[in-house]
Amino acid sequence: MAAAELFSETYKEARLRFVAGAKRAGGQHFEFTNPAGVGALGEALVTDVALLGSPEAQHLLVLVSGTHGVEGFCGSGCQLDALLEGYGIATDRHTATLFIHAINPFGFSWCRRVNEDNVDLNRNAVDHEQPPATHPDYAELHPHLLPEDWTGEGRETAERALAQFVAVHGYMAFQAAVTLGQYTHPDGLFYGGQKLAWSTRTFQEIMLRFARGKERVALIDFHTGLGPPGYGEPIYTELDAAGLARARSWYGPEVTSVYAGDSSSAPVQGALINATRSLLPGTEVTPLALEFGTLAPAVVMTAMRAEQWLTLHGQADPELANHIKREMRASFYVDSEEWRSAVLRRGRELIERALRGLATPVP
Ligand SMILES: [Zn+2]
Repeated sequence: MAAAELFSETYKEARLRFVAGAKRAGGQHFEFTNPAGVGALGEALVTDVALLGSPEAQHLLVLVSGTHGVEGFCGSGCQLDALLEGYGIATDRHTATLFIHAINPFGFSWCRRVNEDNVDLNRNAVDHEQPPATHPDYAELHPHLLPEDWTGEGRETAERALAQFVAVHGYMAFQAAVTLGQYTHPDGLFYGGQKLAWSTRTFQEIMLRFARGKERVALIDFHTGLGPPGYGEPIYTELDAAGLARARSWYGPEVTSVYAGDSSSAPVQGALINATRSLLPGTEVTPLALEFGTLAPAVVMTAMRAEQWLTLHGQADPELANHIKREMRASFYVDSEEWRSAVLRRGRELIERALRGLATPVP
């Protein structure tokens, strides 16, 4: 099927295609509606789930899209391809595939990375009963990341302060300080929230309902925005040597670890899929983030800052606002056939490796 028929222009379109594709593929379909409001086109905000294969299957592959809202354009396209072309569905009765479409429907619809409460879902799955982690580096950078003025002197001063931090500590330390996840600035970037978000609770509910009691569960969570354009980097995000070794034996030596320093991603805390293991005692769980590169890291970072600034300062002039929104979308979804084709090829490769991995004997 042509890539244009797999990748959608809006969340609303992606949802319609996914539901139709799931039905055509013979899947069971389930809906989880976010009560937070409506989408950019007035549509309901729904996470759709499709189960392909037997509910009794002992092995489960879970494919997740839209954890970071706007990144769902990519993940949704890969999911639809896997559904319609059939390669995401095991041919044996021991394995089923669970497609979770748009776990953050608000962010997908409104082209934001975060949810309805400015929460980054990949920083939210922490124990909120504990005192929140504090990150002095983020607090220091916050006013410069999001200056009062996005143009003119205020912005220039902010850029100088950020450049100074990078000059002293290096870009990776800057990225880590910004992206680790912070719990002190609700209007800031990479904010982890103060309680479990609707999407996090819904993901956990889905896991308990469909994955509890399985022998093994593999998850692939589709992301975009880091790494070389079109390349899908398999990233292991847990600190777990046995799991990392298993992921490398299934997906190849190119699996990186956020803790080993070989990944385009800095360590994060509270990643959505990392909560799976504690929900499923007795199940072998192998979580993986598949991160597709788009534009240069500094461009993506600036786009995120600008979009956050725009959200905080809704009164920006329309031309600037449109420019910021276009840059945001382009930073997480490259609108070219070349990129889409590369994404589909790589997505297919990793999904097939996951199914082969699940079929290898449990040690
Ligand atoms: Zn992401």
